[in-house]
Amino acid sequence: MIIAIDGPAASGKGTLGKRLAAHFGLRHLDTGLIYRAVAKSVLDAGGRPDDVAAAVAAAQALDPAGFDETALKTPAVGEAASLVSAIPAVRTALLAFQRDFAAKPPGAVLDGRDIGTIICPDADVKIYVTATPEVRARRRAAEYRAQGKAIDEAGVLADIRKRDERDQNRAAAPLRQAPDAHLLDTTHLDIDAAMRAAIDIVEATRAGRGRD
Ligand code: C5P
Repeated sequence: MIIAIDGPAASGKGTLGKRLAAHFGLRHLDTGLIYRAVAKSVLDAGGRPDDVAAAVAAAQALDPAGFDETALKTPAVGEAASLVSAIPAVRTALLAFQRDFAAKPPGAVLDGRDIGTIICPDADVKIYVTATPEVRARRRAAEYRAQGKAIDEAGVLADIRKRDERDQNRAAAPLRQAPDAHLLDTTHLDIDAAMRAAIDIVEATRAGRGRD
């Protein structure tokens, strides 16, 4: 089974993806980490994330086995990831890795921006997770505070709005809800309630298709 989860920054799709994978015994890929790793590699080499040649070379040399999630999940790397990910040749260089990951038994949960639309258009279940920008900013700021980072929530909200705008309006694989994706709005749901809703979506979809 392949489950595709898409949604904007800080919508909760990563946490849901991880928990759904554990629940259904599937592998999990947070595809945002791939774009973050490309961006960090460009930044670490002193380059600019909108430098096409540097970003494509970093994407082609990527080693997903060596990801350091803590170093990748910073606001600066997220912003740079949103720039490298708008480069079509970067997306092309990362396509096969994501499709191969999804195809390996027993199946996988992938979360990102274009999983249901481009990477796995035939996924068994597609979920589009969203929440208002204010609620997403509040959650992201709470995560940073829990890690002991001083954070200004208004700044986090401004970054989220900027990233939404760029991810939705770029020409290459813009963030969109696939026509056959189930909408899961987590604005008024905590993670446990969102997880129950997601499990219900997966089970109802499988039952509707007569799968076991
Ligand atoms: O999900 P996360 O915030 O870690 O993603 C970082 C950035 O990577 C996003 O803002 C988006 O621009 C890009 N991305 C993408 N396609 C994906 C996953 C992430 O373009 N499948």
